Amino acid sequence: MKIDVVTLFPAWFDWFRGQRHVANALAGGSELLTINPRDHTPLTGGQVDDAPFGGGAGMVLRVDVMDATLRGHYRTDPVSLRSMRRVIALSPSGRLLDDALVGELAAEPALTFLCGRYEGFDERIVEHYASDVVSVGRYVLAGGELAAMVCIDAVLRKIPGALGHAASAIEESYSSALEGLPEYPHYTRPAEFRGWSVPDVLLSGNHEEIRRWRLEQARARGS
Ligand code: SAH
Repeated sequence: MKIDVVTLFPAWFDWFRGQRHVANALAGGSELLTINPRDHTPLTGGQVDDAPFGGGAGMVLRVDVMDATLRGHYRTDPVSLRSMRRVIALSPSGRLLDDALVGELAAEPALTFLCGRYEGFDERIVEHYASDVVSVGRYVLAGGELAAMVCIDAVLRKIPGALGHAASAIEESYSSALEGLPEYPHYTRPAEFRGWSVPDVLLSGNHEEIRRWRLEQARARGS
């Protein structure tokens, strides 16, 4: 999996790259690159944004700067980029990220995330360069970096070898193994704490009953 992130704040990803499952995925052959529009802008003084036409607060990322950034990095007309790889513009109003979308993205060989800042993108960036517009929730973050990390974190967990225990990525909340339901509750030692005990069935050693109980719990949580 080759992941590129277009961001004005590449340093945010230094910490992220060091986190265990991300580091594992990178050691296993995945790639996580950042591309900074400031390194590609044709404008003077590293300018990347401008005031919105029609007025209003904030600054908007310029389409010519995004064009130069993508063209400079990929050495192709960025209009054709989305036919070669998913190009995901992050936006609070995009398609909500869920397990199905994460699964779709995890099946791709290469992804490019576009992080907005300030007021966001000139709409022509979304219209002409992006294949997808993705939101991590109906709230507004200061920039797309954390949203990109949310997407990448979830995608990399699906890649074999990223997690210590492969099975933990299969039977999880909203996975098809759990019929798209939230996961059942977990318990560990001590079996009794402050009078709070663990459900007997989990200590029974009866795997069939445990499986049935977990499915019931997941169904109850999902209803
Ligand atoms: N003015 C915009 C918000 C801009 S926030 C609006 O009202 O919709 C700046 C950038 O942060 C956005 O361009 C986007 O890339 C990112 N961002 C903020 N919230 C997000 C969310 N919930 N999901 C995905 N990206 C988000």
